[in-house]
Amino acid sequence: MRVVNTIREAREARRELGSICFVPTMGALHAGHVSLMELARRSAPRVVVSIFVNPTQFGPREDFNKYPRPLQEDLAKCEQAGVDLVFAPTPAEMYPENVPDIFIDIPALTQTLEGAKRPGHFKGVCQVVAKLFNILTPEFACFGQKDYQQLRVVSEMVRALDMPVDIIACPTRREPDGLAMSSRNQYLSPEDRQRATIIYKALKTAEEQCKAGYKQTNRLTTTVRNIILPHHLLIDYVAAVDPMTFKEAMEVTQPTLLAVAARVGNTRLIDNTVLMP
Ligand code: AMP
Repeated sequence: MRVVNTIREAREARRELGSICFVPTMGALHAGHVSLMELARRSAPRVVVSIFVNPTQFGPREDFNKYPRPLQEDLAKCEQAGVDLVFAPTPAEMYPENVPDIFIDIPALTQTLEGAKRPGHFKGVCQVVAKLFNILTPEFACFGQKDYQQLRVVSEMVRALDMPVDIIACPTRREPDGLAMSSRNQYLSPEDRQRATIIYKALKTAEEQCKAGYKQTNRLTTTVRNIILPHHLLIDYVAAVDPMTFKEAMEVTQPTLLAVAARVGNTRLIDNTVLMP
């Protein structure tokens, strides 16, 4: 496995690899990331991972500075997963001072949910993903459904700008108690870690209600809120939207994304499920 830190080295190393599947990450790798690498391995002969905590997708009051950066452990996990190349640039390498900022915005998809709660977040995501795609020119790239809106935003950026890359959607990996794996889970105190499991339980209950014939989304989102609230989580949103357009869905007459964002202590967690009609 080769590890490079500069754009020049990344381009040179990439050129020798042939067809690649790319897995962009911010590091602090967990089994969710590893599952993306495994899917990547099945999608192309070579796998490239980036590890970069992208400053432009963090808001001014978010956790950019305290975001975990265990690089040596991350590299060991990549090696173990059979990754061929890791690109781990510094912010100065990605955003030199003499280069103007550029943003790609997809307002149709980013005015709700994460986009509404984290202004500018998806502009930063599109900026860094577009740069990484230009540097590494992958044939395929893997994104997790845990960040469902991000997956849609990146897919639409690729489609709208004719980027020659196939986006592969990867299912959410969970802890045995259902909590969606996240680099931010390690911020949780043992009590908060326990309380966080209620998010998945609430989503599962809504799924069961939906299966039992309750298709009105206001009933299902109310179920989720009512289950979560007694556990002292601060809900950012519980929303039911069309998973393609992110427009609000009133009734589950077609696949519907049920998405939650909530704070447990100081840690903001997101999760979702797709409800079936
Ligand atoms: P991050 O390092 O959080 O930016 O995530 C990098 C990629 O891993 C993104 O495509 C995420 O959607 C994906 N990812 C994060 N957590 C999970 C998970 N629990 N299961 C599957 N994919 C995930």
